[in-house]
Amino acid sequence: MGDPLNAREDAAEALGMVARAAGPYLDALPHLPVRDATHAHLVEDLDGPLPDVGDGTIAAIADLLRIGTRAATHSSGPRFFHFVVGGATPAAQAADWVTSLLDQAAGLWPASPLAARAETVVLRWLKELFGLPESHGAVLTTSATAANLTGLACARHWWAGRHGVDVTADGLVGLPRMPVFSSGYVHPSSLKALQLLGLGRDVVRTLTRDDAGRLDVDALDRALASSGPAVLIGNAGEVNGGDFDPLDEMADLAGRHGAWLHVDGAFGLFAALSPRTAGLVRGVERADSVAADGHKWLNVPYESGFAFVRDRSALGRAFGAWNAPYLPEPDEEFINYNNLGPESSRRARAFPIWATLRAYGRDGHRAMVERHQDLALRLGRRITESPDLELLAPITAFIVCFRYRPPGAPEETLDHLNRELGEALIEDGRVYAGTTVYRGMVALRPAIVNWRTTEEDIDLLASVVRQLGTRLHRTS
Ligand SMILES: *Cc1c(COP(=O)(O)O)cnc(C)c1O
Repeated sequence: MGDPLNAREDAAEALGMVARAAGPYLDALPHLPVRDATHAHLVEDLDGPLPDVGDGTIAAIADLLRIGTRAATHSSGPRFFHFVVGGATPAAQAADWVTSLLDQAAGLWPASPLAARAETVVLRWLKELFGLPESHGAVLTTSATAANLTGLACARHWWAGRHGVDVTADGLVGLPRMPVFSSGYVHPSSLKALQLLGLGRDVVRTLTRDDAGRLDVDALDRALASSGPAVLIGNAGEVNGGDFDPLDEMADLAGRHGAWLHVDGAFGLFAALSPRTAGLVRGVERADSVAADGHKWLNVPYESGFAFVRDRSALGRAFGAWNAPYLPEPDEEFINYNNLGPESSRRARAFPIWATLRAYGRDGHRAMVERHQDLALRLGRRITESPDLELLAPITAFIVCFRYRPPGAPEETLDHLNRELGEALIEDGRVYAGTTVYRGMVALRPAIVNWRTTEEDIDLLASVVRQLGTRLHRTS
């Protein structure tokens, strides 16, 4: 086979194969176990020596479809509640294929005016969706980790500037440590961003008032009074208990003390879509930088994230390469997005976002946010009705933190039992949920964040947990 130039005729046929596989796969998805152990061995078929000649387009794609559709974790189906993993709406998924079909180099306007314009449009739509000022600078990223990196890079630039240093040109040498404050809800990805930025992951001081990690606002006030220019990380959505930092109060303090407020809204920023949950993120519009994910609550395929920054010039100063700080005009059409974020070459990540917002609009995405909260509350009711389940945290958006607690079981046995239960759930594969440690207790914390999930899926989750829990408790 060899040279792909000889495979020109196969290009459309290979895409056709994928399209023909899509129908049966998507039809089966709601009924498939999350992971089918009987197909797990198929991943071995990926392995083998690097081919010298190659099998050709059709054979390679047929093989990948055969292995992939069976051995994949069906996490885009309705019963994957582990971590916070969104699905892909039909429009977003199809647009992701379009992204591959068109294969745009989306970093430079001259390389793709189409991709640049799509990015500008979706960033404006997203600001509107979240109630963020239209004047904010913005850029699409691969993820909330990269968006946290983006926001915190701008914060670092601002902070170094307060010390008279242009950190883009000269780095951090000679500067003190940057004071960073947060609650106990700070996500590891923010620490990773600080570590990548050379600020050190241990630079964060968490100011907490209880063992869940809730922010001690008064302690933050006192800390800011003596810290000099500082950065606050507000967490709009904590992944274990589902609580939110008081962004409004943090914005007040940032304003009073002249601090930079960065908000990690990876999933929680979408609470702004519904009047039922908007109070959870009140104040985010006053943040200096905001990070969020597209591949969680927006239900756009991996990878997708976005960062927003109040000072439009900050992105270009932090990321403008080639010695050219870059400040697009508000109505600028010719934006080179590679100057506004961590990546240079990048795919046209705007297309799936554009498609899902165009297809379902503000109302459709609000309906999804509200349904997920309804489903979380339904699970909460199943838990409180069940004598062997214990709800551990109030339900805010879509995370339900609870544990299996059979009547009479001694407290000191519960961590072990729930850890075993978490492993049994994954082994069983009908529903996926993971364990965490919440206030010192091993707990399950399913996240309901997939557009496909229905009441039946939620009821199945509750019953599988009880069924496996009962079996483990009997045999222990
Ligand atoms: C998932 C998550 C992140 C990181 O997002 P990635 O998309 O995995 O990079 C950051 N913060 C919070 C609160 C999250 O839930």
